[in-house]
Amino acid sequence: MRGQVYKIHSDFYYVQTEQGVFECKIREVLKKQKREVVVGDYVELEQINTDSAQAFISDIFERKNFIPKPRASNITQAIIVSSIKQPDLDFEQLNRYIAHCEYHNIEPILCFNKNDLLEEQDLIEKINKIYEELGYKILYTSALKKVGITPLLEILKGNTTIFCGSSGVGKSSIINMLSKNIDLKTKEVSTKTQRGVHTTRHCEIIPINSDSSVVDTPGFSNLKFNFLLPSEIQFLFKEIHKLASDCKFNNCLHTTESDCSVIGRIENIDNTRYESYLKFVEEAKEYKEKITNRGQKTESRTKVNKNKIMTKISTKKRNTARKTTNQDINKIYEEQ
Ligand code: GDP
Ligand code: ZN
Repeated sequence: MRGQVYKIHSDFYYVQTEQGVFECKIREVLKKQKREVVVGDYVELEQINTDSAQAFISDIFERKNFIPKPRASNITQAIIVSSIKQPDLDFEQLNRYIAHCEYHNIEPILCFNKNDLLEEQDLIEKINKIYEELGYKILYTSALKKVGITPLLEILKGNTTIFCGSSGVGKSSIINMLSKNIDLKTKEVSTKTQRGVHTTRHCEIIPINSDSSVVDTPGFSNLKFNFLLPSEIQFLFKEIHKLASDCKFNNCLHTTESDCSVIGRIENIDNTRYESYLKFVEEAKEYKEKITNRGQKTESRTKVNKNKIMTKISTKKRNTARKTTNQDINKIYEEQ
């Protein structure tokens, strides 16, 4: 029997299957192989006996993607929430989240919240100009005025979505506005720092309705690019990656050489995007220095595959995942 882990509590794994929910433990063999089960994993279950709602997890199906902290897998898209005001829109932070999504192979969708506080239309024009051109989907919402719910629900359909973004931008308020199923605690924004108080909780997949679910996690905990090599950052910026393919220099970081194809056409890249790129390259340089000083091999956890950074997956024996994970989840929730 196959199901998806939607909650982990101490040693118990809660798995949603077509036959309902099972409370599971892990088979010793998986522990011995050091294969960890995380929320979002599709797993094989062995029922203890036919009328029991308890089972053992005996295998883990191949993951579509994986985020390490808090651990979650098989996320189909990320809604990156930013606020227009309070706190002010932070382009670097937004680009950081986008780059993390690109790295983890999760489709980013940009949601600009607190639209009710918008004063200058210029900001919207700037946002659209930068991000529409890059092909990212954009949403404007106001959780306070309940604006933008319909397009958001439409985007959630058939997906397991994570909401990420800085604290205080309105993630919990948006999720609460979407469904009566959920009541996430919202936090007052501290007037001093203009940021919300961060609260950690167990990560869990929560159904919003019959065909959509969200992962209750703030997304990526380490946002600094201190785990990649400087040369790998370009793959996280679509526009830079595109221009870089014509660059005649080997190992060019596209930061200094005046004959570089990226610098030669810098007017095609938005300033804030390029500034973020430079910043992330600097962070990656620190990482490179650190591992070089330690005498480690200069190679990160990633490899470049078909112009995309892919996380190296374990070569251990694995079953192949079924194709459309979404449809499976949908079926499961419909039967609840
Ligand atoms: P989170 O940390 O991203 O989950 O943010 P919260 O949902 O806790 O919201 C932080 C603060 O912003 C709370 O005081 C919310 O009431 C407020 N807030 C959330 N959405 C909106 C909005 O659309 N407009 C306005 N004006 N305030 C909002
Ligand atoms: Zn170059």
